[in-house]
Amino acid sequence: MSVLVVNSGSSSVKFQLLDPVSGVSIASGLVEQIGEPEGHVTLDYLDEETKKTQEIADHGVGLAIAFDMLAAAGVELGSDVMAVGHRVVHGGEVFYRPTLIDDGVLKQISDLSNLAPLHNPPNVLGIEVARQQLPDVPHVAVFDTAFFHSLPAAASTYAIDRDVAKAHDIRRYGFHGTSHEYVSQQVAEFLGREDLNQIVLHLGNGASASAIRAGSPIDTSMGLTPLEGLVMGTRSGDIDPGVVMHLRRSANMEVDAIDELLNRRSGLKGLAGVNDFRQLQRHIDDGDADAALAFDVYIHRLRKYIGAYMLDLGRLDAITFTAGVGENAAAVRASALAGLGGFGIEIDGERNAARSRKARVISTDASAVTVLVVPTNEELAIARAAAQLVRSEQ
Ligand code: AMP
Repeated sequence: MSVLVVNSGSSSVKFQLLDPVSGVSIASGLVEQIGEPEGHVTLDYLDEETKKTQEIADHGVGLAIAFDMLAAAGVELGSDVMAVGHRVVHGGEVFYRPTLIDDGVLKQISDLSNLAPLHNPPNVLGIEVARQQLPDVPHVAVFDTAFFHSLPAAASTYAIDRDVAKAHDIRRYGFHGTSHEYVSQQVAEFLGREDLNQIVLHLGNGASASAIRAGSPIDTSMGLTPLEGLVMGTRSGDIDPGVVMHLRRSANMEVDAIDELLNRRSGLKGLAGVNDFRQLQRHIDDGDADAALAFDVYIHRLRKYIGAYMLDLGRLDAITFTAGVGENAAAVRASALAGLGGFGIEIDGERNAARSRKARVISTDASAVTVLVVPTNEELAIARAAAQLVRSEQ
């Protein structure tokens, strides 16, 4: 039996059908440019890619086309799929484990949209459409915040008026939890140790860091929303909250415009005009000073978190890079950990430069801290969580 994983984001929907035991991907696809005249849906199945280009009015239309393409390719979703796993970004204080979706749960996820206005609404749309398409299959929500629900209070609490914080559910929730949990477990398996003190650096278009002690997170860089922390593709990460008031008062910007600025026009995009790391690297190679500064700001922030988490953990056993940038950009890994021999962290240049899709060690044999690159697989983690919940309910 397989699990269909749906990741319905703001401008795209990713879907993948996979075997939750072996991890083999059976089919996968992407709905892109939703709401634009030239939208498209791509499907990869049996080593063949099919693509449909047409106007895709909304997530519902896109997913419906995807389901039709799967059926046309001969995939029997109705009979072969044991569960549909949905990535849901914000679970608030309510959801901290995979949850079977019924109308009540869907309403609660929708109600959490005030905490995640950019993320939860498209998640809800994806769930609604998938439930219409596959009404007889259990649907499971897997939350990005869940892994960090048990953060120590000192790490999850903002130093603001506690009554205001309580009234508005303001705390540090953390995100990318599925990835941090999956990757840290892979590291523990790879090194054959459960009691590891580790730092996981999830560096993709969104980016976050976590400090994990024996499988439990003790700190993470994202907060109430996925805006806090590291410099990202289009998000600022940490910023003095005074900037927000300043923009409101001095630039007369509305709150939605500030939200858009910090979430979509900041980070690498704001500094260098591009959010894609490969493009950034090309601009650096071409001598673009803005791109070079963007890289330096990115690395500076990353090192700040690595240093803080080393102290948090006391003893550090492993640092792991994952996601698009973390898995591929050797220059980021080298710069992030340059000159840390005194702390027992030593990257091996050749190992770091070698390209591979497998989990691997890139530190020297003498390095006290093991540095790794481990590909993340959020879809597999969601599929496994969904399958486990459905089996336990049977
Ligand atoms: P993700 O969000 O995990 O899909 O990561 C997307 C980011 O990874 C984008 O900024 C890509 O430019 C970056 N990325 C993907 N492949 C490479 C590569 N070979 N070198 C550098 N960055 C890459």
